[in-house]
Amino acid sequence: MKQTEPQKMTIALAGNPNVGKSTLFNALTGMHQHTGNWPGKTVSVARGRHRQGNQIYEFVDLPGTYALSGGGEDEQIAAEYISSGQADCTVVICDGTSLERSLILALEIRKITKKMILCVNLMDEAKRKGIRIDAKTLSENFGAQVILAAAGKKQGLDRLIALLEQRNYAVSETINPEVDVISEAERIAGLCVKTEKNKDELRLKVDKILVSRRYGIPILLGLLFLLVWITIWGANVPSEMLHTLFDKGYTSLRQLCRGFPEWLQGMLIDGAYATSAQVISVMLPPMAIFFPLFTLLEDVGYLPRMAFLLDGGMRRCGGCGKQALTMCMGLGCNVVGVTGCRIIASPRERLIAILTNAMIPCNGRFPTLILLAGLFFHGGVAALLVAGFLILGVLGAMAVSGVLSKTVLRHRESTFLMEMPPFRRPRVMQVLVRSVFDRTVKIGWRALKIAAPAGIILWLVAHTQLMGIATGFLDPFARKLGMNGIILLAFILAMPANELVVPVILMGLSGLGSLHAITGMEEELILAAGWSAKTAICTMVFTLFHWPCGTTLVTIYKETGSLKKTAAAFVLPTAVGMLVCFFLNWILGYFC
Ligand code: GDP
Repeated sequence: MKQTEPQKMTIALAGNPNVGKSTLFNALTGMHQHTGNWPGKTVSVARGRHRQGNQIYEFVDLPGTYALSGGGEDEQIAAEYISSGQADCTVVICDGTSLERSLILALEIRKITKKMILCVNLMDEAKRKGIRIDAKTLSENFGAQVILAAAGKKQGLDRLIALLEQRNYAVSETINPEVDVISEAERIAGLCVKTEKNKDELRLKVDKILVSRRYGIPILLGLLFLLVWITIWGANVPSEMLHTLFDKGYTSLRQLCRGFPEWLQGMLIDGAYATSAQVISVMLPPMAIFFPLFTLLEDVGYLPRMAFLLDGGMRRCGGCGKQALTMCMGLGCNVVGVTGCRIIASPRERLIAILTNAMIPCNGRFPTLILLAGLFFHGGVAALLVAGFLILGVLGAMAVSGVLSKTVLRHRESTFLMEMPPFRRPRVMQVLVRSVFDRTVKIGWRALKIAAPAGIILWLVAHTQLMGIATGFLDPFARKLGMNGIILLAFILAMPANELVVPVILMGLSGLGSLHAITGMEEELILAAGWSAKTAICTMVFTLFHWPCGTTLVTIYKETGSLKKTAAAFVLPTAVGMLVCFFLNWILGYFC
C-alpha cells in the first residue's frame, strides 16, 4: 500500500511577553524544537513540530511584543513574518487575566492577516482571580475563533489542534484598518469580561507594598541580604564535605599513578585535578544555593518588580528598566546578561547596558567576595558586606551608564512599557531542576573545562619561577591599588574564568605549585600573608570592577560586532576599579 506524504502546515505563535507563549510552544512541540536566528538578525527564533497522524504542524515562535508598531527589531520581525503570509495561520496568545491589553496586539495582527485564532491563556489564573470570559461573545465581536486555555496545565491544546486540523481559522470579515485598536480593545473586553470583586484584593495589596516608593527598596535590599546570607551560611558545610571528598580522591589518584614520572603526576594531579577540585568545592556550593533561590524569586514574578523599582534610578542615569533586568541576569552570568541586552530596542541604550553589565558580580566572583568578607568579618556582618558590594556593583554600573549617556552615547530616552505579571505560586520542583541543570551544572561544567587546562598552566608557571618574576614585576603597581603582585597576577591569570582568582592567589601565597596541600587552609594562608582589611576591601572592589572574563568578552564581540566596543567593555570597568582602588588605598591607608 502506498503511504501518503505527510502534510505540512506552518503556524505562527504571537503574543505579548509573559502570556505563556513558550509554555504553549513547549507543550505542543515537546522535544521536537530547534532555535536559530532570524535571517540577518540577532533576534532568535524557535521552531518546533507537532505531528498528528499524517499532519505535521510546524510552530514558529515569534518574539513576544506589546505592539507591532513600536519600531523595535522584535516588532518588525513579528509584523513582517505575519503579513508575509508564510504561515498558514497565526495563533495570538492572550492573557486571560488582562484581556484588554492583550487584545491591542491581537487587533493589530487582525489588521494584517485573515487567518488567525485567538488563544486566551492563563485561564486557570483568571478563574482564581474571579475573572470570567465569555468565549462566544469574544469570538463574535473579535471576528475569529477563540479558545480558552491553560497551557501550563495543558488545557485547551486539543481544541487548538482540532481547529487547525479543520482549517477553521478564517476571520469573519476584514477589519477596518482605520479602527483605533485601543478603543476597540476596550469595547470588546467590556462586552466579554466579567470580574467578581474582592477576590484578589490581598494579592493586589501585597503587590502595592512591594512596588511602593516607601517600602519597595527596603524590601528589595532585605531580600538581597537574605539571599546572600543563606548562601554564605549554607555553603559552608557542603564546601567542607567536597574538600574532604577531593582530598580522598587526591590520595587515591597519587597511588594509582605511582609509576608515572613525577612531572606528569604533578601537572595532571597537582595542576589539573587540584585546581578543578578547588574551583568546584569553593564555587559549586554557593552556586547550588544561590541559583535556586534566585530562580524562585524569578518564578514568583519578583524580577519585573525589581526592574520597576530600579527603573526610576536607571532613567536618571540615562538607562532604562529593561537594563535593570539584564543586570539581574548578569548576576548569574555576565554572558547571559550581555545576551539578554537584546531585549533593549534602542541601540545606544543597548550598548550602554552591554558595556556596564560586567560590573555586576557574576556567580564566578561571588565566592571570592564571600571568602574575603568572611576572613575579616563574621556571620551577618559578612553577609551585609557582600550584599553591600552587590549594591556597589549596581551603583557603579548606573554611574557609568549615566556618564556614557550624557557624553559619548547621548540618546533620546525611549519609552518603555513594562508588563507586571501577577505573582505566581512557584513551581519548586521545576525551579530546582531548571536551576540545577540549566545553570549550576552548565556553568560549573564551563568552569571545569577551563579550570583543568588552567591548572596545568598554573602548575607550569609555578614550577618555572615565572610566577615569582611576574609577581615581582606587578607588585609596585598593585600596591598603589591596595593589593599586591600576587593578587593582580591572579586577576590576569583568571581571565578565562573568574572562579580561578582565589585558587591562583592561594597557589601564589603557598609557593607550592599545588592547590592540594592548601585545601581547607585558605583562611590561614591569607591571614598569614599579612593581608590587612584594606587589602581585602581593595581586592573585593577589584573583583567587582575589572575586565570581563574571556567568555563575556567573546560574547560582547559577537553581540556588537565591533572590536572597538569590545575594547571599551574591557577598559571601562578596569578603569573604574583602578580609580576606586587607588583612592581607597590612599584613604584607608590612614586607618589600616
Ligand atoms: P512567554 O513570555 O509568553 O513565553 O511566557 P512563558 O511561557 O515563559 O510563561 C510565563 C509564566 O506564566 C511562566 O511562569 C509560566 O509557567 C506561566 N504560565 C504559562 N502558562 C500558564 C497557564 O496556563 N497557567 C498558569 N497559572 N501559569 C502559566
